Amino acid sequence: MWTCIFSANKKHSGFLWRAALAAAVLAGPATAGEHGIQRLIQAYPQHLCGAEGNFLVWCDGERMPYDDGNSQKTHRQKLENADLQDQMEQPYPRGADYPLPPPTDFEPGRIRNEAFFRKMYGNNAEEVRRRLAPVEWLPRSGGQRLWVTTVNRVHERLKAVSDELDTLPASLRRFVDRPAGGFNWRVIAREKRLSPHSFGIAVDMNTSTADYWQWQRGGDRGPIAYRNRIPLEIVLIFEKHGFIWGGKWHHFDTPHFEYRPELLVKSPDPAPDGKPASPGTTGD
Ligand SMILES: [Zn+2]
Repeated sequence: MWTCIFSANKKHSGFLWRAALAAAVLAGPATAGEHGIQRLIQAYPQHLCGAEGNFLVWCDGERMPYDDGNSQKTHRQKLENADLQDQMEQPYPRGADYPLPPPTDFEPGRIRNEAFFRKMYGNNAEEVRRRLAPVEWLPRSGGQRLWVTTVNRVHERLKAVSDELDTLPASLRRFVDRPAGGFNWRVIAREKRLSPHSFGIAVDMNTSTADYWQWQRGGDRGPIAYRNRIPLEIVLIFEKHGFIWGGKWHHFDTPHFEYRPELLVKSPDPAPDGKPASPGTTGD
C-alpha cells in the first residue's frame, strides 16, 4: 500500500524505464560519453570548463578521465570504483514517473566518482568544513540548523527548498520538520566509500518517517521490499532546486536528498497530459 501514492504512473513506468536504460546502454560509450560530459559541464559551469576527448577539463586546468575503459564492471564494482561515465550512465527520472518498485540495479545518482566530489567540495573533513554554512531549516515550523556546503551555492538552494516546504500544510511538513542531518564526514554504513554527506551536499529528513532498504530485508541477503512514506510534493520541491531523491533507488533511502544537478539537467519533464515522456528523450 505504500506505493499507492504513485499508482497512476505505475502501470507503464517500469516498462518505459527499462526501455530507457536499454537505450542508454545501446547508445554506446562514445555517444553516452559526449552527452555525459556535456551535462556535467552544464551543471557545474563554475568548475568545469570543457572536454578534450575522453577528458573532462576543470577550470583550473586539471584533466580528469571520463571513461576508464572498463565496460565489464558489475553494478557493485561501479558503486565501489566508479568512473565519471558510470556516474552519468543511468538517467535519473525527474518528476512523478519512475519505476516502482525500482528494478534491481536501478539507482541513478548512487554511483559516484569519489575523486570528482573530493575535488569539487574538499579532499578531507577540514577542507569541506571550511566551506560550510548553516541553513535555518523551516523556521516557521520550529526551526533547526542544517550544515551544507557553500560551494555551488548549495546552502542557498537548500534555503529555497526550506522556504517552499515551510509553506506546505502541517500534514506534509511533518515529514521534513525534524531533519536527521546534513554535513557528516563518514563512510556509508557497511561500506568503505564516503557518504555524500561528507561533502556537505546531502540532507536526511525525519527519522520517524524514513524508510531504508537495509531495514526492509528478509534476513541479511533476503529480497528488498520497497517502502516509502514521503509524499511526492516534497520530492518535486527538492528536485526543482537541484536535489535528487534516494527514494527512487533499488537500494532505497527515502529520507535522503542530494545536490546532483548533473542528473537533473535535460531530464524529461512529464508531459502535460500526465503521461510520461517518451524514453527516447532520456537516453544518455
Ligand atoms: Zn543521507
